[in-house]
Amino acid sequence: MIDVGNRAIASLTPREKFLMVETTTSGDSLRNLAKRLHLAPQTIKNHLKRIHDKLGTESRLDLLKFAVRNNVIESPRCPCKRCRAIKLG
Ligand SMILES: [Zn+2]
Repeated sequence: MIDVGNRAIASLTPREKFLMVETTTSGDSLRNLAKRLHLAPQTIKNHLKRIHDKLGTESRLDLLKFAVRNNVIESPRCPCKRCRAIKLG
């Protein structure tokens, strides 16, 4: 099976991947993000446009879902007894 998602992720540059995580997890506005990362807001917008083009996403929420589905951002494991009993390879 061809993993389209992971292949798209692999096409991101390190900076694009970093910004993908920052824009979806920090909760910062574009303005604050730019300030914090020492970048111009327009530079971040340009990066985001390229990220969306590569991944076929359209919004920050799309991007977040994509990141979680493809294990760029880790979702916590279910803490229930049954799931904890399943041993991870
Ligand atoms: Zn569970």
